[in-house]
Amino acid sequence: MGDKGGLSLPFFMGPARDQGLGAIVEKPYKPVYSDSMKPSEEFRFNSGRLSLDLAATVRRRGSLPNDVLAAPGAPARWLREAIGVEDLPALSPAQEAALRALRETIWTLATAASADAVLPAAAVDDLNATAAFPLATPQLDAASVTVRLLAADPFLAALAAIAGDAIDLLGGALRSRIKACAQPDCQMLFLDLSRSRRRRWCSMDRCGSRAKGDAFRQRHRDP
Ligand SMILES: [Zn+2]
Repeated sequence: MGDKGGLSLPFFMGPARDQGLGAIVEKPYKPVYSDSMKPSEEFRFNSGRLSLDLAATVRRRGSLPNDVLAAPGAPARWLREAIGVEDLPALSPAQEAALRALRETIWTLATAASADAVLPAAAVDDLNATAAFPLATPQLDAASVTVRLLAADPFLAALAAIAGDAIDLLGGALRSRIKACAQPDCQMLFLDLSRSRRRRWCSMDRCGSRAKGDAFRQRHRDP
């Protein structure tokens, strides 16, 4: 464990790569509760939380799981779209595996939370260890008057940020609002921020309308 180059200024104005420093663009996470805002068709960003969006990169966990991060280059694309990591070189297989391991840790814990079950201790340990990686440092760019987050290791800082989001979620009052989509083959985890707390589907456009169609056909099948 050592200081990776020292976070001395002004590293993002100069040869950042030469110093082994990379940048993460500030991108405030905006919870999305419908399918209307999708940065891409490749990933879903509508769970309501960054950490749950990562968990949602395995689709249809309840039936035929499809790991969308298994596609070539997908983990780096997800990081770019989810938290704006820029200048990220191609991820190594170990880094891709680390992102997917964090995903499964989050999924394990959030699934337990959604069932009001005890959180598995080993997964809690993994999450805490990931959150302990050095976070990015916010810096104000004088020319553009924008915030840039700088980190000696942008990849680890990104993992720490995602783990931190999960810790905030699991350790706070919103834990009781984590739900799994009621469509059996989907089961995507999402945050129910509805006033009635009765949201059942990951999205109305997808599973909600499907469920209503199924119910309609059920009602009209037999007298
Ligand atoms: Zn669903």
